[in-house]
Amino acid sequence: MTTAQTQDLDVQPSPLALLLLGREADPKSERGVECPGDLPSPSDPDLVERARKAKEKLGDKVFVLGHHYQRDEVIQFADVTGDSFKLARDAAARPEAEYIVFCGVHFMAESADILTSDDQKVVLPDLAAGCSMADMATAEQVAECWDVLTEAGIAEQVVPVSYMNSSADIKAFTGKHGGTICTSSNAKRALDWAFEQGEPSTTKVLFLPDQHLGRNTAVRDMGMSLEDCVLYNPHKPNGGLTAEELRAAKMILWRGHCSVHGRFSLDSVNDVRERVPGVNVLVHPECRHEVVAAADYVGSTEYIIKALEAAPAGSKWAIGTELNLVRRLANRFAPEGKEIVFLDKTVCFCSTMNRIDLPHLVWALESLAEGNLVNRIEVDKETEAFAKLALERMLALP
Ligand code: SF4
Repeated sequence: MTTAQTQDLDVQPSPLALLLLGREADPKSERGVECPGDLPSPSDPDLVERARKAKEKLGDKVFVLGHHYQRDEVIQFADVTGDSFKLARDAAARPEAEYIVFCGVHFMAESADILTSDDQKVVLPDLAAGCSMADMATAEQVAECWDVLTEAGIAEQVVPVSYMNSSADIKAFTGKHGGTICTSSNAKRALDWAFEQGEPSTTKVLFLPDQHLGRNTAVRDMGMSLEDCVLYNPHKPNGGLTAEELRAAKMILWRGHCSVHGRFSLDSVNDVRERVPGVNVLVHPECRHEVVAAADYVGSTEYIIKALEAAPAGSKWAIGTELNLVRRLANRFAPEGKEIVFLDKTVCFCSTMNRIDLPHLVWALESLAEGNLVNRIEVDKETEAFAKLALERMLALP
C-alpha cells in the first residue's frame, strides 16, 4: 500500500509494527527484540499471577507443553519445550499428569492424545489454534487420491509417508495403508524405509501434506531429481496428473505447504547476504526448494537450536523459521556474541500458534483448577489405533 493510499484510509502505521518490520538498513532491528518506545507489557502482571496460582493449585496433576513457536508470555509457563513429537513423548512419560495442556496447535494435541494413556486428558487452550498445512489434506481428499492411484494401477506400489504436521485422520490413513509418519528430523530415514517396503525400482511414496519437506528430502538428501517428483493437487480432477505421470513418478507430493515457511523466497536469501556480509543462512526444510538450495544449512527446529549452540562467537546467522523462536534465539545468543537475524524483511509469525495467548492459558488452567475440563482434544479409538500404528513404525525406524 502506498503512503497516499494509507492517507486516504486515514490509517496510521503502528510504531510496533514498524519496529518488527525493521528498516532494511539495520539488520539488528529485524530481530524485533528492542522496545525503546512506551509499549504495553507483553505479559499482563495480573494474568501472569493468575496463571501461576492456577498452575500451583493443580500441582503434578497438570503438565504444560510449549511448542518452540509459542509466544514468550505463554512459553514461560511451559514445563517442557520442544517440537511437536518431542512434546507428545514428554507427555507420555508423565503418566501422573491427569491434564496435559498443549500450548501448540490442534494436530499436536491430537498426537499427544494418541501417545498418552486413556486416563490423561489433553487440553488445547484455544480450539481455533489449527494448522493451515494440516488442513490442506482432509480425509476425504486423501481417500479420493487413493482411488486415483488405484485406477492408475499403482496403489499397490505406493507407500504413504505423512509428516507429523497432519491430522489424526491422515495419520490413521497412513497406518492403514502400510505407511509411516516422519518429522523434519527423520524424513530421510522414513523415505529410505518406505522405498525398502517393496521392489526398489517400482516403489513410490505418497508424501503428505507438505510438498516442500517431501521434495527437499527426496532431491537434496536422497539424490532424486525434480522430475522424479509430481505434485498432486487435491482441487483438480485426478490431482491434475495423468495416469502416465503418476506411473513414472517416484515421489507423489501432496500440494500442501506451511504458510509461515512458504513465505521465505530466494530474494530473502539474496537480500540478507547483501545486508549482512559473511552471514550463514540456516533454514527449515518446510521452506521452498529454491530457498533450501540457496541456504548454507538446512534442518529441523531442534537442528537449528543445536547449530546455534555450537556456533562460534562472532558468527552471523540468518534464520528461516517462525519469528517467535528466532527472536528468542537472538536474545539467548546475543550475550555470546552471536548475531542472529530473521531471514525475511517482514513479520513471519504462525498466526494459529499465536492464538494461544495468556488469557486463553489462564482460562484453561483456572477451569481445570476448579474441576472443569475444557477444550479436551480426544481422538476416537479406531483412528487412534491406526494412527498409533503409523507412529510406532516411525519409532522403529533405524
Ligand atoms: S508454522 Fe506452519 S506447519 Fe507449523 S503450525 Fe504454523 S502453519 Fe502449521
